[in-house]
Amino acid sequence: MNCSRLKTLIRDWYQEVRSFTLSPVKMMDLVEKHVQNCEVCQQDETLPLELEQLREIIRVPYKPPKETDFKFSEDIEYIYDEDLEDLEEEEIES
Ligand SMILES: [Zn+2]
Repeated sequence: MNCSRLKTLIRDWYQEVRSFTLSPVKMMDLVEKHVQNCEVCQQDETLPLELEQLREIIRVPYKPPKETDFKFSEDIEYIYDEDLEDLEEEEIES
């Protein structure tokens, strides 16, 4: 991530997501809007990958990161689908 502005924004938004004042989906919307209007971000070749990782992190906050490494196994895929159902409600219960 080359863009210092985006780094700051993501840090702030992530705090809001963690305190449940911002939904993860909304946060990704805000990130994408920034990228669309930012030359630094648009020229950052690794940014899409980093945003993909970020998406994993913020959308599945209660899941240990290790599990995402094994999501290709059938069992984990099943769990993953269940998680997605919850997330479609765009709400995080504390
Ligand atoms: Zn930027």
